[in-house]
Amino acid sequence: MTHSEELFARAQKLMPGGVNSPVRAFGSVGGTPRFMAGAKGAYLYDADGQEYVDLVCSWGPALLGHAHPAVLDAVHAAVDRGLSFGASTEDEGRLAQLVMDRVPAVERIRMVSTGTEATMTAIRLARGFTGRELVIKFAGCYHGHVDSLLAAAGSGLATLALPGSAGVTEATASQTLVLPYNDLAAVEAVFAAHPGRIAAVITEAAPANMGVVTPGEGFNAGLRRITEANGALLILDEVLTGFRTGWAGYWGLTGATEGWAPDLFTFGKVIGGGLPTAALGGRAEVMDHLAPLGPVYQAGTLSGNPVAMAAGVATLTHATADVYATVDARSLELSAALSSALDAEGVDHSIQRAGNLFSVAFGTSEAGVHNYDQAQAQEAHRYAPFFHSMLDSGVYLPPSVFEAWFLSAAHDDAAMERIASALPAAAKAAAA
Ligand code: PLP
Repeated sequence: MTHSEELFARAQKLMPGGVNSPVRAFGSVGGTPRFMAGAKGAYLYDADGQEYVDLVCSWGPALLGHAHPAVLDAVHAAVDRGLSFGASTEDEGRLAQLVMDRVPAVERIRMVSTGTEATMTAIRLARGFTGRELVIKFAGCYHGHVDSLLAAAGSGLATLALPGSAGVTEATASQTLVLPYNDLAAVEAVFAAHPGRIAAVITEAAPANMGVVTPGEGFNAGLRRITEANGALLILDEVLTGFRTGWAGYWGLTGATEGWAPDLFTFGKVIGGGLPTAALGGRAEVMDHLAPLGPVYQAGTLSGNPVAMAAGVATLTHATADVYATVDARSLELSAALSSALDAEGVDHSIQRAGNLFSVAFGTSEAGVHNYDQAQAQEAHRYAPFFHSMLDSGVYLPPSVFEAWFLSAAHDDAAMERIASALPAAAKAAAA
C-alpha cells in the first residue's frame, strides 16, 4: 500500500469522499488521488516521494511556479508581523493599486477570500444596484458554488455529470436564466422576453470549466452592447483568467483593444498567489453601493488578510511581461506536442484555446467545442487512460477532461521534455 493509499483510506473516514473539493477525489479518472507533501517550481512531490511535473498549478494561482522565492519571502515577512488584525492594512491598498494599474476599469475593489464570494457578491450588488431580480448565466460556465449559479455549471458539476446541485431551492433556481454559450441571439431573445427584469449577465471572460472554450468573435463585446441597451450589468468573471492569460487578464486581450469594459470584474486565484484571496471590482458608481457606503451588505472576518495580501502583492509584482511571454510560449509548445502525439496515434481531438489556456477535447475535430452541449458530447472516456499514463510517467494533469491545463513561468526545458516524452504512451492509451 502506498502512503497516498493509506492517507486516502483514512481521509474517507474523516471527510466526505476523502476530500475538501470534489474534483480532487479522482472520481472521473479513477484510482487513488495523490496526497501532496510539497511543491517547488514546476514540480509537485507526493507523500510517497514521487515527483511530478505539475500541469494543475493549484488550479491557476501558481503562475510564477510553486514556492517562488520572492513570494515566500513576502509571506514570511508578513507572518512575522502577525497573522490577522481585523483592521485595515497598507498592503490592501498596494494590491488594489496593482490591480487598477492593470485593469483601469476597476475604479473600486473589494477583497474577499474566495472566487465564490466574489461572484456571489457581484450578483447581490447587481441586484441591489438595478433593483431587478433575474440573472443570465451560460451553460458550462462555472462561477463557484453560489446557489443561484450552480445550474448547468461546469467544473466539478461537469466532471460528476450533475445538472445542478441538490439543496438549491426552486425559487432561487428560477431567478437564473441559463443560456447556451456563444449564442448572442439567445441573449437578445431572453432580454426581449423579460423587459426590465434582468439585473445582470455573468460570464467567464473565457470559459475554462467545461474544458476551454473560445468566446466567439465579438461575443463578449456583444454581451456588453446588449446589457447596456437593456440597463443590465455585465459581470466578467476573471477568477480563473485574471492575471493569468495576460497582464490585464482575458479582458486585456479583448475588451482593452475592442474598447469596452464590463461593469464588474471578479478575480481570484493568481491575485492571491496561492493564499485565499479574491476580489470584485469595477465602476465606482456600482461598487459604492456596497456597505459601508451603500445598502448592499458584504463583509468578511478574513477579507484582505495581511498574509494573503503580501502573497498577492509579491505575485503581481513579479508577474512581469516576461512571465506572460514564457507562459504563452510554453502553452503553444505543449499544445502542439500534445496534438502531434494524438495525431500519431490517430486520436481525433481538438485543442481548445483561449490565450495561454488550453485543454483537449476528444472526438471533436470536425466542429470543435463552442458550447456545453458539444463539450459533453465528446469522447470523454479517452481521458482517464491518457491521464493515468501521464501520471505514471510523472506528469500531473487535471483529473478531469473538463478542466484547463495550467502552466507556469517555472516550466523550464527539463519540465517540458519530461512532458513531451510522456505524451506518446499516453496518446496510445487514449487511442485504445
Ligand atoms: N469563477 C471561476 C471562473 C472559477 O474558475 C472558479 C473556480 O475555479 C470560481 C469562480 C470559484 O472560485 P473559488 O474556487 O475560489 O471559490
